[in-house]
Amino acid sequence: MAKSKKLKIIPLGGLDEIGKNMTVFEYGNEIILVDCGMAFPDDDMPGVDIVLNDISYLEKNYQKIKGIFLTHGHEDHIGGLPYFLKAINVPVYGTRLTISLVEHKLKEHNILSRCNLVRTKPGTVVKAGQHFTIEFINTNHSIADSAALAIKTPLGTVVHMGDFKIDTTPIVGKVIDLARLGELGNRGVLALMSDSTNVERPGYAMSEMTVGTKFNEIFENCKKRIIVATFASNIFRVQQIINAAVTNGRKVAISGRSMENIVEISILLGYIKIPEGVLIPLDNIKKYRPSQVCIITTGSQGEPMSALTRMAFSDHKTVELTKNDLIILSATPIPGNEKSVSNVINELFKIGAEVIYSSLADVHVSGHACQEELKLILSLVKPKYFIPVHGEHRHLVLHKELAQKVGIPEQNNFILHNGAVLELDKQSAKITGEVPSGKVLVDGLGVGDVGNVVLRDRKILSEDGLIIVIATISHKTLELLAQPDVISRGFVYVKEAENLIDGIKYVANEAMEKSLARKHCDWNTMKSSLRSSVSKYIYEKTERNPMILPIIEEI
Ligand SMILES: [Zn+2]
Ligand SMILES: [Zn+2]
Repeated sequence: MAKSKKLKIIPLGGLDEIGKNMTVFEYGNEIILVDCGMAFPDDDMPGVDIVLNDISYLEKNYQKIKGIFLTHGHEDHIGGLPYFLKAINVPVYGTRLTISLVEHKLKEHNILSRCNLVRTKPGTVVKAGQHFTIEFINTNHSIADSAALAIKTPLGTVVHMGDFKIDTTPIVGKVIDLARLGELGNRGVLALMSDSTNVERPGYAMSEMTVGTKFNEIFENCKKRIIVATFASNIFRVQQIINAAVTNGRKVAISGRSMENIVEISILLGYIKIPEGVLIPLDNIKKYRPSQVCIITTGSQGEPMSALTRMAFSDHKTVELTKNDLIILSATPIPGNEKSVSNVINELFKIGAEVIYSSLADVHVSGHACQEELKLILSLVKPKYFIPVHGEHRHLVLHKELAQKVGIPEQNNFILHNGAVLELDKQSAKITGEVPSGKVLVDGLGVGDVGNVVLRDRKILSEDGLIIVIATISHKTLELLAQPDVISRGFVYVKEAENLIDGIKYVANEAMEKSLARKHCDWNTMKSSLRSSVSKYIYEKTERNPMILPIIEEI
């Protein structure tokens, strides 16, 4: 009976982490999804390129899925799509820029032609299946065309805010549609899911426009070549850098593949406006004096392969930095990237370049709402139930406390974890179960084939290195032909550790002799006794645990 049906909200990613956002809404035999993000690997996942959500629950229920609804075009919201759509091909809905960025991704993965992408606008209402109606609502964020979603279900409306802030002077597009959110609130909202990223910060997020004023000031007083690094997807920032360049008579060149892609798409769609003749190919910068050039580049997070990092380490094929350069890092490091960013800044100082970064000047503002904005949304939407999302655990707890201050009773706040099933009806809500969730690691072309064993091996290799022990025995007599040989990589510098290596050889020799003296000793037993005696010896001498690879050959 329809009356007994409940609405299930199941976050598969994005909680207790910033990254790989994805939420399941399930009613009866229908499912819709909000976002399909990816995350970047942690330091304890060497060699892993990206991290995806476990979607086994959805693979099991794929016939129920009516569509994926995207809030905006950041990687933590759309990055998982190519992998998801290869497994489960369902229609994808999003605003113009979001879908254009998705299109570009699917093209790279060679699956664009078989995917169904639908472009929406703020105000668009999509009917998905029998039970769901989804409305796109304009918001502000650090990328254009960001949206909140009002998801109508037979039990009531759920508002998902996506990533947002309130910017009353946005660079492109309109101010967040507070009126619509208020209207929904007045009609009654069952549940609100809201962005917790900046819940620790009091007050309001600054307007993107303030950064433009600062750029202008810096550009006006500068005779050097200017290089600005920022997020490729922040086209508002890119526009403001272009504006400052134009006002101060500089040509603009773009460096870095993702920056080139997004700038090209944005100019095509009309999100970035640039007067004719201002944009020049990077190869042409040498034709102008330093004071006539501005380069916009990727690498604000110190990513190892990015353009700015290559420039800083004198490894860029076109741009050679000197003390005649001013470099602006227009971004704050995402938690986890602090060290690589500071490495890049140090290299820039070594070159003698002038460096401006956000702890020195206001060259960056955040795209996420601070406390007063979060409270305003809570009081406009007035949800019955509140679910803080998009944050690490402490962010979720602090956001819940904020909601209580605004008047949401404690028992109506739900801090969920990835995989938790929250069941709601008109009268009640409770966590009733769990579906599989977790990390799927992507290494190059392989999805999910890097498991814990591979990760453990990579960790050992990166921390303690590798020792290869080679023992050669005679095919005829089954005797050792010589003392085993030892090769080490990333362990200890061999010249200074001759004694240690000699010791290892000695121990390996003993272990082999012992094994060979025994009758019926098979290869595996021989290898494992070789490995364990060498490992024990090395640990006693050095307290390290390198990976030990025994190789026994018969000649
Ligand atoms: Zn975002
Ligand atoms: Zn996000």
